[in-house]
Amino acid sequence: MINSLKSLRWAFLVLVGLLSCAIQAGAEAASTRITEVRVSLSDGATRVTLIGKGSLRAEIFTLDSPDRVVVDLPVVQWPDAISGALPRKGVVAQLRFGQFNPATSRLVLDLKEPARVAGTELRTVDGKTRLQIELRPTKVPKTVETRTTVGDGPDGGNKADQTPPKPPAKEEAQAALTPRGQADQKAASDAERASAKRVVAIDAGHGGVDPGAIGSLGTLEKNITLAAARELRRLLEATGRYRVVMTRNSDIYVPLAERVEIARKGKSELFISLHADKHDSPKVRGASVYTLSETASDAETEAFARRENSSDLVAGIDIGEDYDEEVARILISLVQQSTMNCSAVFASGLTKHIKKQTRLLPRPHRFAGFRVLKAPDVPSVLVEMGYLSNKVDEKGLRNAATRSKIMKAVVKAVDAYFARRSC
Ligand SMILES: [Zn+2]
Repeated sequence: MINSLKSLRWAFLVLVGLLSCAIQAGAEAASTRITEVRVSLSDGATRVTLIGKGSLRAEIFTLDSPDRVVVDLPVVQWPDAISGALPRKGVVAQLRFGQFNPATSRLVLDLKEPARVAGTELRTVDGKTRLQIELRPTKVPKTVETRTTVGDGPDGGNKADQTPPKPPAKEEAQAALTPRGQADQKAASDAERASAKRVVAIDAGHGGVDPGAIGSLGTLEKNITLAAARELRRLLEATGRYRVVMTRNSDIYVPLAERVEIARKGKSELFISLHADKHDSPKVRGASVYTLSETASDAETEAFARRENSSDLVAGIDIGEDYDEEVARILISLVQQSTMNCSAVFASGLTKHIKKQTRLLPRPHRFAGFRVLKAPDVPSVLVEMGYLSNKVDEKGLRNAATRSKIMKAVVKAVDAYFARRSC
């Protein structure tokens, strides 16, 4: 509560409706295709234009810490890339788009400075729908909360109201990470004993609007992690000994806290998050395994954890300013020591088995404060299968047979882990 008061932010919400369109939301979801996303600059305003076929009903709002503009649409098909280069001047530093949740496609604009939505325009010309969003730098105090609705009715009238914005995702994250009650824990472990199969959660890193790392051949980390996750699930299920919980099984974004919660709700006994990030040096290659710790094993791992933890920001989620400092520290202390010990045991087994299949980094088991590894009661590891910034690793990870080899090593480590009487 205190956190939400502290991080008062203003949200500017614009609803744009295609006036003549009376198609139901469900039907338009399948048919809208965006053919072009373009950013241009004129008269000191940055204009973001979406051109598509079908209805473009958008909800637009701004977020701070860091400054972003989020454009939510019904499920649409996106183009492969933006048209042309981003203008050097203007407020947009970077943009990305993709699926955010089953009902929403999202465009996230990272801003160089605070900006406001100065205007929107929706037109249909020659059967093409064009949505233009005009952004201008702003100095509006962040304590002012504004929510404006434009269009979306037969009169197309603008109206402003003072409805407070949605509560920050940060609070949801906190709730999701509170340890289960003891009765719940006992029920879960009783249920597990009754079931012959052990439960393993597989987390394909990134997804949807968050592509993760992008390789020099254009490989998207989110696609590699999903392909590897599906292969790992296939291999684990083929043994007949495991039930698998997937945190995502499509090109969709799942917030970090929700990934943890999906694993816990599924009564998972082990959580494996799969990644293929990039390294500052294109020469560096090899796999590595990460576990949770309050202090990082080294500066490089600390920076890596910071990048991974910013996944929610990348996807346009408001996690609040002070999450990284205070909240993360408190939550980490809730993680039981035994859980952390078990994570370390599994991690060391993993490095041993992966080493037989692919190259490892020096000191292959590293640790830092990864948000996705914070389930208080599920031993969790993050596997960096290799670096997309390295050509050899990238080619290997694009290859199904190479991914399968690494995943077979993971299965062996899972077998060895559960074969122990205790970790
Ligand atoms: Zn990653």
